[in-house]
Amino acid sequence: MLTRAPKGTKDVLPGESYKWQYIEKIMRDVCARFAYREIRTPTFEHTELFLRGIGDTTDVVQKEMYTFLDKKERSITLKPEGTAGVVRSFVESSMGGAAQPTKMYYLNCPVFRYENPQHGRYREHHQFGIEGFGSEKPSIDAEVISLALTVLRELGVSGLALNINSIGCKQCRPDYNKALIEYLSKNKDGLCRDCQQRMGTNPLRVLDCKQETCSAIVKNAPKMIDYLCGECSTHFDGLKARLKSADIDYVVNPMIVRGLDYYTKTVFEIISTDIGALGTVCGGGRYDELVEELGGKPTPGIGFGMGMERLLLVLESLGIDIPEPSLCDVYVCTLGENASEKGFKITADLRAAGIKAECDHTGRSMKAQMKYAGKIGAGKVIIIGENEIAKGVAAVRDMKASEEKTVAFEQLNEFIKGGE
Ligand code: ATP
Ligand code: MG
Repeated sequence: MLTRAPKGTKDVLPGESYKWQYIEKIMRDVCARFAYREIRTPTFEHTELFLRGIGDTTDVVQKEMYTFLDKKERSITLKPEGTAGVVRSFVESSMGGAAQPTKMYYLNCPVFRYENPQHGRYREHHQFGIEGFGSEKPSIDAEVISLALTVLRELGVSGLALNINSIGCKQCRPDYNKALIEYLSKNKDGLCRDCQQRMGTNPLRVLDCKQETCSAIVKNAPKMIDYLCGECSTHFDGLKARLKSADIDYVVNPMIVRGLDYYTKTVFEIISTDIGALGTVCGGGRYDELVEELGGKPTPGIGFGMGMERLLLVLESLGIDIPEPSLCDVYVCTLGENASEKGFKITADLRAAGIKAECDHTGRSMKAQMKYAGKIGAGKVIIIGENEIAKGVAAVRDMKASEEKTVAFEQLNEFIKGGE
């Protein structure tokens, strides 16, 4: 127990964290180019926020939330998604008072869901996401999608499918729900028990059910896209036109509804065919009612969440090589206490000059230090023994060329920086 991480959690080990840093850098760079700024919100929020935001008949709320009472008996929930916290912050900090739109991103946001762990599905995972508030125009929908695709393209990921759909609004959804309920009622016996219940409370959720029998029935169900009101239909056309003008390929997939209740109009998923059934790398959509639902002034919004672990799996399965930074450029090998002290100072000076430098902390032999230096990738080794201390010089060995030069202590930084 003690030495085993809880089920569904994963360490990012020192030997693999560079991969995370690599994708994080690309995400930050792309966000800066699109004028999205970072927001960081707490890991936990009042449970009520998610009940109201995500919807209390969704799987996330009913089955997957990590909810507990704190010592003062407040109900607290670990974030099961990234958007609700950002909306709460948008309202609490009165961001709507500034010139709109408000464009924000979050990176490495921990997300907790009590799910059945499997490849690419964890109980704690991390999301990169963006949220754009204050614009109802389809151009921002297209921008949000374009940002996600730019990140993926710059990571070298190809062969992903962009699926888009519109799930309507307050105006047109009720008519569609009626038609859907009518259809589902006729096929009720074939639905799973959850869906038989959902049918009455939240029929759209049935479309998102992962059970095969339900998927088969749902295939022939009426489609929201055929019930869109004039405004939703024009909005969807505007999105498609902009994707087209930006040469972004898409498929209209009327089956995409997303698992959270707050979506209106645009929903989309970016799907990889390389990681099997768990192919959704990124999912998002518009949430024009959410800010008001959570107590703010009516403000449209749109965003996406991208699973970082799943993205890393896609990179791996595509064989995309992430360059591993060198751990050490120069290793300072020393023999004896005097040399060790001098070596420590030389290492500090090299580091201060911006050079990746390392020295011995184990007291191992000179030969073992040289071997270790090779192991951690040092291109150069500085060798200091009693002789060198007496003369005020060090031997600098180029590991590749196997050449050695004598350099005065005070010239070491220059010599190493010169890259000779
Ligand atoms: P799925 O259909 O795979 O359950 P979802 O619709 O629940 O995904 P979202 O709520 O949209 O997912 O979350 C956005 C992204 O976060 C997903 O596209 C996926 O990449 C990632 N993700 C979601 N749940 C998990 C999980 N349990 N473990 C790892 N990544 C996840
Ligand atoms: Mg899910």
